[in-house]
Amino acid sequence: MTAAPLNLAGLTRAQLSAALVDAGVATPAQARMRGAQLWGWVHHHGLTDFAAMSNIAKETRAALAERFTLARPEIVERLQSTDGTIKWLIRFAPGVEAETVYIPGVGRAGALCVSSQVGCTLNCTFCHTGTQALVRNLSAAEIIAQAQIARDDLGEWNAAEGERRLSNIVFMGMGEPLYNLDAVSDALDVISDNEGIAISRRRVTVSTSGVVPKLTELGERTSAMLAISLHATNDELRDELVPLNRRYPIAELMAAIRAYPGLSNARRVTFEYVMLKGVNDSPAEARALVRLLAGVPAKINLIPFNPWPGSPYECSDRAAIETFAAIVNRAGYASPVRTPRGRDILAACGQLRTESAKVRASARRVEAA
Ligand code: SAH
Ligand code: SF4
Repeated sequence: MTAAPLNLAGLTRAQLSAALVDAGVATPAQARMRGAQLWGWVHHHGLTDFAAMSNIAKETRAALAERFTLARPEIVERLQSTDGTIKWLIRFAPGVEAETVYIPGVGRAGALCVSSQVGCTLNCTFCHTGTQALVRNLSAAEIIAQAQIARDDLGEWNAAEGERRLSNIVFMGMGEPLYNLDAVSDALDVISDNEGIAISRRRVTVSTSGVVPKLTELGERTSAMLAISLHATNDELRDELVPLNRRYPIAELMAAIRAYPGLSNARRVTFEYVMLKGVNDSPAEARALVRLLAGVPAKINLIPFNPWPGSPYECSDRAAIETFAAIVNRAGYASPVRTPRGRDILAACGQLRTESAKVRASARRVEAA
């Protein structure tokens, strides 16, 4: 069996130049120039066909097509909500499927919620993805492909920045991005490149359940905006809702957040707080939250719980959410209540899950036979 051709659309600039030299398509002296030419076609124009790259010699285009590919992964399903939210189910490989969601009206124009893993190793009790065992990490190419698919679908390759409907990226899809930081970091290098998809790092938010030892590295390598899935203000409750808290309790998490590179009033941490009826939504907990965040440049995103089949919680009442928000707000923190989007297509926060399961390699070979 020959190996699948390398997909150039998922490489950083340095990796792209190296791949061209390796394949004999460019000499080391030509690599930068040739790499830059290709980069524009792939990441600014969104081309998936070497033949259309008009400023590259015909023989070179043929040589590229022989050795490499620019193909997108397969879209298994596309659903559009009545509120305009779009959800794609993407098949990266047989049995490796993840979801990506575009939400209009979030951020400057619209945000793409990308997945970093298929499934998740963590088992937050309120999260649908948490019920799906980890299948595997997505590669940088597979993370970038999610942005490319959105650009294809929205038809805005080449669009001027002010006209684009895709303006922000949030790593709030399936998986824990800090358990796949190398791929997330490479993907951000590509997605934020000015001569490409050009979504600036200030418009990229990485959400984590609190992988404390990786927080500083995230800031240093990506300069992304930080979001923390907090959900509780004391260790007893957070141990239950976000089991990772047993490894990295709240005090350690808060210390690491205070040390996050680049944190300032202009670059605040977002704290996500899912509103669970009778579990974490009392006024006393709102006051405890305010005390916990004292001195941290923060905004608080209150997320009404989104139910999923078999979920063990209910969403807090509207009145409880409003009381909670008012207490946090009075303490000087912005506390928007996140309007649930795309619930009708199970695309809202925490509703993502695919049928992919980890199959033993032997079983996969049988299936493929
Ligand atoms: N693993 C990362 C990123 C993905 S989850 C993390 O946990 O931060 C994205 C956000 O959706 C997190 O804040 C998560 O806590 C929240 N979420 C999960 N399930 C939810 C649900 N059922 N309703 C509302 N929000 C949920
Ligand atoms: Fe994983 Fe985040 Fe869901 Fe927790 S909330 S199970 S960390 S995806």
